[in-house]
Amino acid sequence: MKLVFLGPPGAGKGTIAAIAKDKYGIPHISTGDLFRAAIKNETALGLKVKEILASGDLVPDSVTIEMVRERLACDDCRKGFILDGFPRTVPQADALAQMTGLDAVVNFQLSRAEVVRRLSGRRMCKSTGRIYHLVYNPPKVDGIDDETGEPLYQRPDDQEDAILNRLSVYEKSTEPLIQYYREKGLLSDIDASSSPSDVFEGMDKVLKNRIH
Ligand code: AMP
Repeated sequence: MKLVFLGPPGAGKGTIAAIAKDKYGIPHISTGDLFRAAIKNETALGLKVKEILASGDLVPDSVTIEMVRERLACDDCRKGFILDGFPRTVPQADALAQMTGLDAVVNFQLSRAEVVRRLSGRRMCKSTGRIYHLVYNPPKVDGIDDETGEPLYQRPDDQEDAILNRLSVYEKSTEPLIQYYREKGLLSDIDASSSPSDVFEGMDKVLKNRIH
């Protein structure tokens, strides 16, 4: 199954993808996670994109497209994949169409107010990428990852200025993709306001109807 997850930052794309990758047996490819890993490992790519990520702006299309092209060429993508956070612009979507076909594009819908609530309470484990929320999904021990015992951190781009910038970048550059994929008959709208397991079940039903 070849899937794209679309939706504003904080809609839960990464959380649902983490469930779906196990259920469907396909890799979860998050361009944000790939960039954060490059930053952590201080690679040339990481140094190039560090400031861009902290501000909430988009990494240039050429850089992002090449990174995804390399990732999709890996063996584990032959059976399918979940692209989370890519494409984010029309040129990225055009480039993806040259690389591969898609089975469905899931559009996770969430109000602006809820996006801000979710992002500002989000905390993460740096080494595993596991996501928590101060209110909706707190760790067992305040500020500590349940598995590794490491201190949780707040992504620099989950601070208020960057959240507002990411939302306006989303509305300007990424929202046009909703129409782009609707016109291609690929889009499924999913209400992302309920719990992760309910959102996954809803999506699973929609995808089964669409694909079989
Ligand atoms: P995310 O984890 O998906 O919220 O992505 C975090 C940040 O990584 C974004 O705010 C961008 O700076 C960068 N990023 C992730 N995916 C893309 C993309 N497809 N195009 C450009 N920049 C991206």
